[in-house]
Amino acid sequence: MRRLFVAGNWKMNTTKESGVALAKEVAAAVPSGGSVDVMVAPPFPYSSAIHEAIAGSGVELGAQNLWYEPSGAFTGEVSADMLKDVGCAQVILGHSERRHVLGESDEVINKKNHRGLEAGLHVVFCVGEQLDDRDGGRTDAVLSTQLEGGLTGVEGGQFANLTVAYEPVWAIGTGRTASPEQAEAAHAHIRGWLREHYGAEIADSTRILYGGSVKPDNAAELIGQDNVDGALVGGASLKADQFIAIIQAAQGLS
Ligand code: PEP
Repeated sequence: MRRLFVAGNWKMNTTKESGVALAKEVAAAVPSGGSVDVMVAPPFPYSSAIHEAIAGSGVELGAQNLWYEPSGAFTGEVSADMLKDVGCAQVILGHSERRHVLGESDEVINKKNHRGLEAGLHVVFCVGEQLDDRDGGRTDAVLSTQLEGGLTGVEGGQFANLTVAYEPVWAIGTGRTASPEQAEAAHAHIRGWLREHYGAEIADSTRILYGGSVKPDNAAELIGQDNVDGALVGGASLKADQFIAIIQAAQGLS
């Protein structure tokens, strides 16, 4: 069985002080050796402080982005090795805000996925359709294109370090959640794509998280779907009680 995984994407939120307090509360509720994997991805400048705040707990440190070159003249960017240097074990790549607000292409996301995997980071690779794609019946086609684009050249052996996150853009930060049936259908499509391109073993062992307005009151139903292996949480990961309740919902299902 796939281990459930709950990840918190703090985006460009918190101060150092409030972030450390939040991380400490989450860490206190998540001892190491638990039944669910947990990660938090704070803003870059707070990585070291949050790493210290979660030390010894079952919470891993993630980052929200990286640049695909190892070093050099890339003003404002952060490398995979820098992330590792400050304690990051994971990185979120291909998030819809990177795609649609900051203009990242599938090609750039593909390079980032390769860099993260080569550096030994666990990559949480996000895909998801926009509302007009869903309304136009193009959800599966968009997901296939993003999977193809983002995973080109990624080898089967690298999937041990890769999680896919399905995040319908219309459900992110909007309070509008995909129904459990909509989430399950998209996840089943993603797993089918993985089976077709990488075979049954990788398809069956790769975790696919759902993200998009996950809250304590809808988490269990969403994560309870056959092909949903946890949640990538934005807004609710900024409130310790809500994020812990979502983790507990996953624990109740594992
Ligand atoms: C996200 O940004 O990855 C996300 C899912 O946000 P929210 O939970 O706020 O919709």
